[in-house]
Amino acid sequence: MTLSSPPTSLTVEQVQDRVSLAREAQAQWMRCSLTQRVRRVRRFWAEVRKKREDLIQVIREETGKPRFEIEAMEFGGLELILSYFTSHAHRILKDRATSRPWFLINKRTYVRHVPRGVIGIVAPWNFPLLIALGDSIPALLSGNAVILKPSEWTPRTALFLQEVATASGQFPKGLFQVLAGDGATGAAVVSCVDMVLFTGSTRSGKKVAAAAAERLIPAVLELGGKHPMIVLKDAPIERAAKAAVWGCFANCGQLCVGVERVFVAESLYPAFSEAVLEETKKIRQGLGDGYGTDVSRLIFPNQLEVITGHLQDARDRGARIVGGELLDSEKLLMAPAVVLDAKPDMRLMQEETFGPVMPVMPVRSVEEAVQLANDTPYGLAASVWSRDVARAEALTAHLEAGLVSVNDLSSHYVVCSLPFGGMKESGLGRRHSDEGLRMFCHQQSVLIHEWPSRWAEPWWFPYDRIKSRGISWLARLA
Ligand code: NAD
Repeated sequence: MTLSSPPTSLTVEQVQDRVSLAREAQAQWMRCSLTQRVRRVRRFWAEVRKKREDLIQVIREETGKPRFEIEAMEFGGLELILSYFTSHAHRILKDRATSRPWFLINKRTYVRHVPRGVIGIVAPWNFPLLIALGDSIPALLSGNAVILKPSEWTPRTALFLQEVATASGQFPKGLFQVLAGDGATGAAVVSCVDMVLFTGSTRSGKKVAAAAAERLIPAVLELGGKHPMIVLKDAPIERAAKAAVWGCFANCGQLCVGVERVFVAESLYPAFSEAVLEETKKIRQGLGDGYGTDVSRLIFPNQLEVITGHLQDARDRGARIVGGELLDSEKLLMAPAVVLDAKPDMRLMQEETFGPVMPVMPVRSVEEAVQLANDTPYGLAASVWSRDVARAEALTAHLEAGLVSVNDLSSHYVVCSLPFGGMKESGLGRRHSDEGLRMFCHQQSVLIHEWPSRWAEPWWFPYDRIKSRGISWLARLA
């Protein structure tokens, strides 16, 4: 299959034309029954599956990810998202009858779900397939058109999907369009669509929120994170150490829910540090195509500057860094770094690093761990590690994060029944769960007066004292 020519940024007028085309397609699409939409989305996915090897190659070229991560995370994750939304769509989107006051039993009331129209999906570079398509699927199923604006660093994956969508013949022309370009194209998309689902940095997310507020359109924002992993003194050390290493270095650390800080009970700190160093030594790093690679390269060249800046700052403030060497700057290959004796005022304990870096810090008490865990503007993911599951579970309630776990991490995304999103500067709104399908629809409240057909309601004109008292009495009894 041949890929489209390299993307160029689109003007606002060009974006408006594409959105108009999407509106025409959406008018046809929303007339299809939900059963038909489910069938067509599944068929489209079946076509993507047939081109799996080609698509893996495109993702590898764009991101350098290990094959395992593309297969297990990008494709595997999508299978689960597709399965959840296609199997539950009828239940989630069906008209929902509502209760009403007893003296209005002569009226029927329910909520209907009406597609919003054209949804703008603005995506980042760290999961060019999973996020782009994972968010497009529920938007399409709920009867909307999708304008997908991929990251300027990974547009080819999305363009590949558009070509498969067109060739599959499952969607009206223009229903699923990819608009490649930079942030300016993203801003133009936000200026024309009916809702935006944005995934990216907090910095850009704030701009998107302001632009959406100006137009009074909903904006769901999935932004950065600073996952604190709290390792209590009774933690299962082997599992916790392996989890920390995977949680920090999977996807070369470019994971919004990835571990960015490890707080370890003082008594466990020496043994835990040794265990993570041992595990880190075992990592097989490279650019190979097979299953023999655990960690590959960075995706976004500018990220290297952020990561090395954070490491230098930590070094200057007395941290002990093991690893973190720049193996090949041109190929963006950097060895995973374990930063021991990290301190709260270091940049890598405050700002999102988004790279293969594991700061580890001893804490004197559980209270200190919780206080430090919450001490950032972010609030996406957090985890607690202990053999006392009940105690750890109770502790999660004190963590300011949208996604919390005990003795586990980074699994929420594929459990689609769970709402996925952050508190504080990590975002607004949630993707996934039943609400993650309904949010693409207006809730239209329907009220039908059924009987009697001839009488006027007592609260209509003319007003009088007796009617007023009667209505007050009925309302009190309701
Ligand atoms: P980014 O903010 O630079 O870009 C994200 C997307 O927004 C790109 O497509 C970009 O072109 C576009 N964009 C930039 N400015 C825009 C504007 N003013 N209006 C509209 N669109 C605009 O982020 P990135 O560097 O691509 O991604 C990395 C970030 O994404 C990290 O902070 C990471 O934590 C976050 N992320 C969050 C989640 C989540 O679910 N919470 C998932 C993955 C990544």
